[in-house]
Amino acid sequence: MKVVCKCGFVMSDSGSPNDMEHLLISDRQVEVLQDLVDSEVAADGEVQMWPEHWEESGATEILKCEQCGRLHVIGSDGRVSHVYIRDPDTEP
Ligand SMILES: [Zn+2]
Repeated sequence: MKVVCKCGFVMSDSGSPNDMEHLLISDRQVEVLQDLVDSEVAADGEVQMWPEHWEESGATEILKCEQCGRLHVIGSDGRVSHVYIRDPDTEP
């Protein structure tokens, strides 16, 4: 997936691992993730399905622009649904 940020920087998730992709997960989704991992460990003795577990837990993908820091939230349809930018009042 390629996303062009409002600042003009082109983000691509083709290289993995990278510092652009992030996952946002709620406290409730952490519980779901833990249950999925526990179930796999109980059945197979190890975890091989991390990507599937992250997806099934409902974690939200976030792309962070390396140039300006905008956060691009990826919706369930695989497209950018929201963009957040730092409040200048909170800058260090
Ligand atoms: Zn940007």
